[in-house]
Amino acid sequence: MSALRVVRESSSDDDEHDPEGPTLSSEWSRIRGLLLEAEAQLAETDAASARVEAGTYGLCQNCGRPIPPARLEARPAARLCVPCASALT
Ligand SMILES: [Zn+2]
Repeated sequence: MSALRVVRESSSDDDEHDPEGPTLSSEWSRIRGLLLEAEAQLAETDAASARVEAGTYGLCQNCGRPIPPARLEARPAARLCVPCASALT
């Protein structure tokens, strides 16, 4: 992102009219989205390791029942069992 920021600041503001490929602005939005997604995943992973330390990892935070191993395999940072997750969304 910092490399893109340099390009963005040093180039003229005419990049929106470049018919070739994505504009810097759209590339910026795309990378920003990826960054936000990565930060969200990191936060979920942090929360999951805190639950490992607290001894509550793998337990549904809503009903307290164990989350099935298959679900934890698919979503290691899952906080809710399937019934609770579908009830709450
Ligand atoms: Zn539950």
